[in-house]
Amino acid sequence: MGDMILQAQAKLNLTLNILGKRTDGYHDIESVVQSIDLFDRIYLKTGLPVPVRRGNEEINIKVTCNDTSIPMGRGNLAVDAACALAEFAGLRASVEINIEKGIPVAAGLGGGSADAAAVLVGLNQLWRLNLSPSELMVVGERLGADIPFCVKGGTGIIRGKGEIVESLPTPCDLWFVVVILQDRISTAQAYAAFDRLAETTGVYDAALNVADVTSRMVQSIRAGKVENIAGCLTNALEQAALSIVPSIAGVKHILLAQGAAGVGMSGSGPTVFAIADSRAKAEAIRAALTWASCGGRPKGTSSGGASVSRVIKEVFVCQAISWGVAYR
Ligand code: ATP
Repeated sequence: MGDMILQAQAKLNLTLNILGKRTDGYHDIESVVQSIDLFDRIYLKTGLPVPVRRGNEEINIKVTCNDTSIPMGRGNLAVDAACALAEFAGLRASVEINIEKGIPVAAGLGGGSADAAAVLVGLNQLWRLNLSPSELMVVGERLGADIPFCVKGGTGIIRGKGEIVESLPTPCDLWFVVVILQDRISTAQAYAAFDRLAETTGVYDAALNVADVTSRMVQSIRAGKVENIAGCLTNALEQAALSIVPSIAGVKHILLAQGAAGVGMSGSGPTVFAIADSRAKAEAIRAALTWASCGGRPKGTSSGGASVSRVIKEVFVCQAISWGVAYR
C-alpha cells in the first residue's frame, strides 16, 4: 500500500525531578526535555489494511535493524507501537520496519521511544487514519513513558509518568556536546538505585531533587538565555547513575574545564552533555575531548587522555530542534 522514510529524533533531559513512586511501579516525574538532531532512520512499508474485530488478530510485522542487541520482535518498541496502533484502529496489515540506529542504545537518549513515535506517525499516514498527535500520544503512553513527548518533540515539560506533555518554545542557538560513555545503564537499573538512595534518606526530596528547578528552567528557555539554561541543568537520577558508572563525574569535570557553559546527564544516564551557545564553541569542546582521547592531557585535569579514551565511546555535536519525527 505504501512506504515511507522517517527520522526519529533523540532527546536530552535538561531537568529531571522525581516526585514519588506510584502504586503501578512507575515514578511520577517532572522533566524539561529537548529534542536534538541525532536520529534513527526508520524505513516503513505496509500492505493494505483490512478491518478486524478489536483484539482479534495479531498483525504480521517484520523488523530488521543494524544493531542486533535490541529485540527483533515484540519488545522492540517500534513493533509494539505498530501493534498498538493497529489494535486502536481495529485493523490488520502486513508491516516491514527497518531501523538504522544512529541513537546509542540504553544511553538515556530515548532511542526506543523515538522509534515508536516515528512508527505511530508514519503508519497513521500510510493507513490514512487521520489521528491527531494527541490520539497518537494516548496510543504511545501505554508502551513507554517517553513516547508521548517524542510524538511532538521539540522543547517541552513532561509530567506524570511522561504522558502529560506541555510544549515550550525551542531556543535558537542551543548546542550540545553529547558524550556517550562505554558503559550502559538500563532505566530499571537507575530507578532501582534511586529507590535505594531515597530509602536511606527517607523521602523523595531536596536531597535528590532540586526545588523550583522546572520553573527556573522554563523561565530561562522562554527568555532564550543559553547561559541561564546551562545554569539550571539538574537530574535527580544522577547520584543513582553515579553509583553504577562513577566515571560520569570525571567526564562532567573535563567538559566544564574545556569551557562548557554547563553540563548535565540525560535520562537514566550515563550520557553526559555540555551546553554551548554556538556550533563553534561546541566543536571546540569536542575537539579538546578528541585530542584528550588520543593521549593529550585535557585542560584542568591531572591525568592523561588514556583514561578518557577508556571511558568515552563517542562524542556528537548536536543542535536543539523543534520536532520529534521528520519525514525524509
Ligand atoms: P529512556 O531514556 O527512554 O529511558 P534509553 O535511551 O536509555 O531510554 P533505549 O535506547 O530506548 O534506552 O533502549 C532501552 C532498551 O529498550 C534497550 O535495552 C532495548 O533492548 C529496548 N528497545 C526496545 N526497542 C528498541 C528500539 N527500537 N531501539 C532501542 N532500544 C529498544
